[in-house]
Amino acid sequence: MVIIGGGVVGCSIAYNLARRGQRDVVVLERETVGSGTTSKAAGGIRAQFPTETEIRFSLESLRVLKNFTEEFGVDPGFKQIGYLFLVSDEKALRGFETRIALQKRFGVDVRVITPKDAHAIVPALRVDDLIAAVWGPQDGLAGPAEVTQGFAKRARELGAGIVEGVEVTAIDVAGGKVRGVRTTQGEIASPVVVNAAGPTAARVGRLAGVSVAVFPRRRHIFFTEPFPEL
Ligand SMILES: Cc1cc2nc3c(=O)[nH]c(=O)nc-3n(C[C@H](O)[C@H](O)[C@H](O)COP(=O)(O)OP(=O)(O)OC[C@H]3O[C@@H](n4cnc5c(N)ncnc54)[C@H](O)[C@@H]3O)c2cc1C
Repeated sequence: MVIIGGGVVGCSIAYNLARRGQRDVVVLERETVGSGTTSKAAGGIRAQFPTETEIRFSLESLRVLKNFTEEFGVDPGFKQIGYLFLVSDEKALRGFETRIALQKRFGVDVRVITPKDAHAIVPALRVDDLIAAVWGPQDGLAGPAEVTQGFAKRARELGAGIVEGVEVTAIDVAGGKVRGVRTTQGEIASPVVVNAAGPTAARVGRLAGVSVAVFPRRRHIFFTEPFPEL
């Protein structure tokens, strides 16, 4: 079974397949494990999302992160320091209330708090322009590199192959079925190919004639000096 992409998603899929006894799993990564968008993530972990799918994935992630060190032998740097959204107008607050109702249906610990309460949590905050804040105390931070390396390490230990520096250049399809992939270093026959190519998933999908609704958007990362108050 070929998995295209060695980001957190590809490595997690490889681990979970190997754990369930799937043999001959190989991840093909054109660069190095975790070097794609995974390496750019801030590390925020939260169940405060607007859709059922995201909320359920996040709750499962929180469960995995709590036991990560025991399960993977790698400390993911998981810190449940909470996640705070700042709300400065009524319209935004109404939007949060709809999400909160959905999140609570799935047991997420999330609440609307006053600006004063937000200030008590983060004393460095200026809160005079806020009307409320939304606080999820179970949320927090984890290290994207650590998590990805944990999945990759355990996947390898369970027999999966993870190969770096190999790009998939074509997906062979015959009779409506996937037959394998062609890469910069040769061909691999496989009846199943998993597209875990992150922001380039649409491009990889096109290799098999499949339309994948992934539309990457360029975002920005700003580096600052440390804020002692935080
Ligand atoms: C602990 C953690 C915390 C996070 N926190 C945040 C956060 O605070 N905010 C946020 O916005 N997101 C966060 N994220 C999510 C992150 O930003 C990315 O969305 C996520 O890591 C993407 O993973 P991926 O495996 O789908 O994609 P990628 O990491 O991009 O992996 C895809 C891989 O596919 C490879 N690839 C592509 N095409 C080919 C090909 N043809 N052949 C071979 N290889 C190919 C690429 O080289 C790349 O390495 C977090 C993720 C983690 C793990």
